[in-house]
Amino acid sequence: MSDNGVLIILSGPSGSGKDTVLNRLVEADENVKVSVSMTTREKRDGEIDGIHYYFVSREYFEKKISENRMLEYAEYAKNYYGTPAEPVDEMLSRGKSVILKIEVQGAEKIRNRYDNVISIFLMPPSMRVLEERLRGRGSEDEETVQHRLFIAREEIRRAYEYDYVVFNDTVENAVNCIEAIITAERHKIDRNKNIISEVINNV
Ligand code: 5GP
Repeated sequence: MSDNGVLIILSGPSGSGKDTVLNRLVEADENVKVSVSMTTREKRDGEIDGIHYYFVSREYFEKKISENRMLEYAEYAKNYYGTPAEPVDEMLSRGKSVILKIEVQGAEKIRNRYDNVISIFLMPPSMRVLEERLRGRGSEDEETVQHRLFIAREEIRRAYEYDYVVFNDTVENAVNCIEAIITAERHKIDRNKNIISEVINNV
């Protein structure tokens, strides 16, 4: 019901469970959409182009940057990741809540660009659980796992920059928390001024 959709950043280290949580959020609420990012990293088993990411070459990604078509982008673990601008603006103007699943550098850029953005940090219950999840994927070699754990520690130190922290102890708890945050944000007065004045004018 709010005037415009809510723009939400969801960050959390690789392996914190963002994808599982996001899938559940999207299934539960047709007004919640997740932006599909573009990346230059290799596709993992089971990932589908256009659904999990747009998998592109470095040349293609750099062309999109130079054309100013990315809302933000960052280099992470030696690959580019970024948010194509157009679909996000379009979904927001249709009143959808749009979630950007991005890392901390991208989050900072989005906060500087949009006023009303809310940011949520998805926290693994412990570093041990995070390590188990990263190894459980079985898709990355030891060097990549160690590199991602190193980055994870750096990212968790930056959780203080976020508006909310959600612990992913169980998927259900994490989903319930994020749904509660989105509902509360949608009901903020600042996001509903047009609707309120319409009601007043129709009295
Ligand atoms: P993964 O390779 O595990 O899918 O993602 C690595 C990291 O890149 C994750 O922290 C993920 O949130 C982040 N990421 C995914 N898409 C984007 C994006 O569009 N922009 C930015 N800045 N980070 C992204």
